[in-house]
Amino acid sequence: MEHLLPTIDLLAQGKIASDSAGLKVYKESHTTSDDVHLLMVKDQAEKYILATGNGQLYDDLEGTDIGGKGKACPLTYENRLVLNRYFDYTAPRAFGTEIATIGLGDRLGLASPGHIETVKGKEIKPVLAQQSIRELTLTNRSMTDMLDAAAFAVFQEGYKGGYGADGDHIKEESDIKYALSLGVSMITLDCSDQIDKTIEEASDEVIAEEFNNVPEEVKQRYFDKYLNKTFEVNGLSLSFDEASLMRNILLYDEAITYTTHIYNEYISKEDRAIDFEISIDETETVTAPISHFFVANELIERGVTVVSLAPRFCGEFQKGIDYIGDVEQFEVELREHALIAEHFGYKLSIHSGSDKFMVFPIIARYTKGIFHVKTAGTNWLEAIRVIANVNPGLYRRMHTFALENFEEALKYYHVTPDLDSVASLDNVSDDQLAEYMNDDAARQLFHVTYGLILTAKDDKDEFVFRDEFFKTLDEHEDDYRAALVSHIGRHIELLGL
Ligand code: ZN
Repeated sequence: MEHLLPTIDLLAQGKIASDSAGLKVYKESHTTSDDVHLLMVKDQAEKYILATGNGQLYDDLEGTDIGGKGKACPLTYENRLVLNRYFDYTAPRAFGTEIATIGLGDRLGLASPGHIETVKGKEIKPVLAQQSIRELTLTNRSMTDMLDAAAFAVFQEGYKGGYGADGDHIKEESDIKYALSLGVSMITLDCSDQIDKTIEEASDEVIAEEFNNVPEEVKQRYFDKYLNKTFEVNGLSLSFDEASLMRNILLYDEAITYTTHIYNEYISKEDRAIDFEISIDETETVTAPISHFFVANELIERGVTVVSLAPRFCGEFQKGIDYIGDVEQFEVELREHALIAEHFGYKLSIHSGSDKFMVFPIIARYTKGIFHVKTAGTNWLEAIRVIANVNPGLYRRMHTFALENFEEALKYYHVTPDLDSVASLDNVSDDQLAEYMNDDAARQLFHVTYGLILTAKDDKDEFVFRDEFFKTLDEHEDDYRAALVSHIGRHIELLGL
């Protein structure tokens, strides 16, 4: 690595070297703290932070000495923690309820530079790190991998606008504790284990029957508060008859209790702000506005500070494709959900929010530009688009593999693509392969098979696609950036920001 010496020499004088063969310089990363200069470079496909100068920061960073003039520090977990300590902007932070936020799940750890460029200067803050336990498991990544990738991207881009990190769709207390201990700034509590699926489909008779099991004091408390009462909520009139009240109690009492417990036990005990999101969307039935009110009203009265809440909206929010359903009905209900959220002072959260171009303007209008939208898989699909453009052979092999393994992926995801409608690879020329990423069925095919593709191994225990996949994207990182700026940029534009 001695060839980095001239770059370090320049850096010591506060100057930035130009790109050269095998060396890419991330100029925006250049930063100085006291007497220490830092600069991120990529040397033969490997990224380092070059450091030179004198001071504690220099001593704290681990790296390989370069001719006694400085060191090349790899992008390790330990070095990321050092950056977090010295540069506030590299650590995740909460954003509260006054500004829109967008979750930008990055399954590859490569998307954040493009995401940063997309949101820069816009009235929206990026939650760059956002992966569910499911996604981490399926891609063999850890939560620290996710946090490292986001922090280094922020450093690389010199982005000081602040970013969030979401422990996404967490159900278990131990996972919440763990995520908080790593410094995430947002927790999305997934209450689906506390919402009884059988109640959702139950008839009024079954509900009345089941309700006999509810303890008298619980029943009495809710009845006194809600039965035959009308609540004026931001212009809406919401009232509970006995049947709807019993159903809401049976459906949500346990989730409300659990959420309150999580808040009191973990979220409120943090000595820093946490964006606490409640998700009641991972269920079979649509969240009626009155149920949304019921849950929120209980949480707020029990002292829970809700930063965002995700109901299950009418219609289908399938992964990676546009809204499916009655847009007029969606508008009617979204308006009511937005009024309820505004009444309580938190943000409405839209899960599986990528590619819902039809309804983005509606979301923008009724939330008045204050919302949280989650995207994840769409960022992976943009990577596939790049692969299709620059490495047709790899694309073809992945496509074939995805078709062969689609059934397996359905264990984890609910999508309903008509795979027979996907054009046969034999009939598509190399320069047309990227068109697959404009086809809903092909998008969903890739959307759900990412884990299988990225972890597939051959009989010699070697990755079938992974290494070539990452190498290709690394060589075309500017293409990936441009694809994200265009695709996520369209989201942000239609969301009115
Ligand atoms: Zn969700």
